Amino acid sequence: MQARRIIVIGAGHNGLTCAAYLARGGYDVVVVEASDHVGGAADTREFADGFRVSGCAHYVYQLNQQVVQELGLQQHGLEYSARDLSTIALSPGEQRVTIGPGGLSGPVTERDRSGHQEFTRLTERFAGLLSRYLNQAPPRLANGTRKDRLTLARLGWDIRRLGRDDMRELLRVGAINIYDVLNEFFDSDLVKGAISLDAVLGTHMGPRSPNSVLTYLYRLAGNGVPRPGALALPRGGMGGIAAALERAARAAGVEIRSGTAVGRITVSHDRVSGVELTDGERLEAGLVVSSADPRTTVLSLLGARHCETGFVRRIHNLRCRGNAAKLHLALDGPPDFPGVGAPDLRHRLIFAPDMDYAERAFNPAKYGEYSTEPVMEIALPSMSDPSLAPEGKHVLSAIVQYAPYQLKAGWDDGQKQAFLDVALATLATVAPGIRDQIVAGELLTPADIEARYRISGGHWHHGELSLDQFMFVRPVPGATQYALPVDGLFLCGAGAHPGGGITGTPGRIAAQVIVEGGAA
Ligand SMILES: Cc1cc2nc3c(=O)[nH]c(=O)nc-3n(C[C@H](O)[C@H](O)[C@H](O)COP(=O)(O)OP(=O)(O)OC[C@H]3O[C@@H](n4cnc5c(N)ncnc54)[C@H](O)[C@@H]3O)c2cc1C
Repeated sequence: MQARRIIVIGAGHNGLTCAAYLARGGYDVVVVEASDHVGGAADTREFADGFRVSGCAHYVYQLNQQVVQELGLQQHGLEYSARDLSTIALSPGEQRVTIGPGGLSGPVTERDRSGHQEFTRLTERFAGLLSRYLNQAPPRLANGTRKDRLTLARLGWDIRRLGRDDMRELLRVGAINIYDVLNEFFDSDLVKGAISLDAVLGTHMGPRSPNSVLTYLYRLAGNGVPRPGALALPRGGMGGIAAALERAARAAGVEIRSGTAVGRITVSHDRVSGVELTDGERLEAGLVVSSADPRTTVLSLLGARHCETGFVRRIHNLRCRGNAAKLHLALDGPPDFPGVGAPDLRHRLIFAPDMDYAERAFNPAKYGEYSTEPVMEIALPSMSDPSLAPEGKHVLSAIVQYAPYQLKAGWDDGQKQAFLDVALATLATVAPGIRDQIVAGELLTPADIEARYRISGGHWHHGELSLDQFMFVRPVPGATQYALPVDGLFLCGAGAHPGGGITGTPGRIAAQVIVEGGAA
């Protein structure tokens, strides 16, 4: 057996990050990727002749700056076509509010302005605290080491150090939902609708759902640059980040084999011994690290028979049913969003005109139906990066919620077409002429995302980000320290702590755990 050899399953951005750190830690690393290109859900795809778009994730706001610096991603070609973008909240009429680095602009009240300052101060403070614990392996609650006990004590101390008022506020808002919190700070429906969408994007939640403050803080706790939550678009689409990671990994000595799917993880004498590819080839290794989601890793690739029943049940019960669909449009010219000047079309556009609208959009998803009036996050990346479309033409990339993975009626062509019509009709309420500009388009439902990206349920986080699947218990008890119950097998993708989004953080921490633990 090749003890210093590690096989990483999946060349998504976390698999590549993990592989690069492991190779720098002295391991001989091979990454095996099923798709013919790297990036996973952080890729760029040509979906129509000459029109390219980020296939799933389109905005960067959480990328771990330690990953960027330690792996030298800028030297490896990482560039942004737009940074520090504002959010423009759209209403069906021409009313628009901009939420930007300098605060709010548009038809808002004095209470909105001061509320925004205080809300930003408070949430950034809480997110700052959270980010310390998202950037390291979570401490074990039971049977912990001295280090685990110290981390827990530090967490308590850090909360106490917020001071009496902010500490009470954290404990209070942590237990309620984003709907109630936003009502305490703002009058403007547009502002509340847009911020509430940030809390529920990629989840099975509406603004009134418990945990929706936590998901908002999670989003802010990532490393937005130059400020928490700041939005950027990578040059060349999200595949630009994957390409920089690929170069960093190869420079560190990683071998990447794409177009090669792992069929199963092999086990010998109760220890992982490597992988068997779908073409029958066997690769031996001392360790296997999987960036595939926890369900795929344990149930499909490892096989339930290698784990005890309770653990298998927990993995089976992991909630990972996606609700986010992706819409890509090729446009024959710049679109017109009345009320948004042409230069502002490079910013992020949100259609969630009020929180009740967003909550109503969520309601059908509870019963396995799609929204007939969905919420949307819209990007026009070719406005700042003309390389994505033929000259004078543009691409539109939108996340459309809610489109439940398990649609009661099933996602056949008829249902997909019906949901596409709904998405286009919604878009037309804020960009009336857009239908006439479309030269090509596609809609990916969570079922399509599952099939294309091999993500169970097509879920943004590889597993819902909620208190019962967060931090100390992510993804499930028995796998919270990246190690799975079979010796030599680890997780390093979005399903592990701290969760999904373009961060690189699970990949980085998993590699640290392995290198520090001297595993293999
Ligand atoms: C619709 C949608 C929109 C999103 N938008 C954003 C956004 O704007 N901003 C943001 O920050 N985040 C966004 N996200 C979340 C983000 O894309 C993911 O959380 C992140 O990409 C997960 O990265 P990963 O490397 O952990 O896993 P993945 O990207 O899923 O990579 C896993 C890799 O493993 C490979 N693999 C799986 N099984 C096998 C096998 N058997 N053999 C070989 N290879 C295998 C897959 O092909 C894949 O390449 C979005 C997600 C979705 C679904």
